[in-house]
Amino acid sequence: MNEIAYKLHVDKIIETIERARLKVSAHHIVKIVAVSKYSDTDAIEALYQIGQRAFGENKVQDLKAKSAALESLPLEWHFIGNLQKNKINQLLESDPSLFQALDSLELAHALQQRLSGRNMTLDALLQINSANEKSKHGVHCDEADDLYRQIAQECPNITLRGVMSIGAHSSDRQQIQHSFEATYRIYETLQADICSMGMSGDYELAIECGSNMVRLGSVLFPK
Ligand SMILES: *Cc1c(COP(=O)(O)O)cnc(C)c1O
Repeated sequence: MNEIAYKLHVDKIIETIERARLKVSAHHIVKIVAVSKYSDTDAIEALYQIGQRAFGENKVQDLKAKSAALESLPLEWHFIGNLQKNKINQLLESDPSLFQALDSLELAHALQQRLSGRNMTLDALLQINSANEKSKHGVHCDEADDLYRQIAQECPNITLRGVMSIGAHSSDRQQIQHSFEATYRIYETLQADICSMGMSGDYELAIECGSNMVRLGSVLFPK
């Protein structure tokens, strides 16, 4: 895709987001995180050139390498993948602007220990496994509220900003919608700031269910 065609393609996605958010409210603002996990730094730079600033990676080593290579650009990096405890130090070295996949009290405690040792803080989202799928990380809906409050209390160096969820893995729109609605209810109860849900295949629906942060990979980086 040449530069003009690519810009038109991205404009279409932005228009889709615009229509979906206006169905919620004129005041409903949605942030786009471009998931660059399958893309190289040239593709990231091309998207930056047409206005994108927030990018997400799901492997600590990729986050480190790409953020270092693009250090001269004013980008914001999100870590959206499962974090193993032995990678915590590496993640903190790249100082991401948001860790979207905090999924257990044990990981929160391990993070807290390293954060306080480094005298730094980390913004994070609690990942919710809203459709209770074995293949997915995240906490169950009925545990989310208590766990969120416990982490907030016991981990002063973690700043919880809200919740993240991956929509139900299903071709049934109703089922995906139910999973988004379940996550949104938790977000509402917590009166949190960020509700991160919606990927390339379901971002319109996610926004209509109240998402204010979408994580878009394949649709923003067409092959
Ligand atoms: C890969 C990934 C995305 C983006 O997926 P696409 O379907 O390519 O948009 C979003 N969120 C998470 C957690 C991911 O791992």
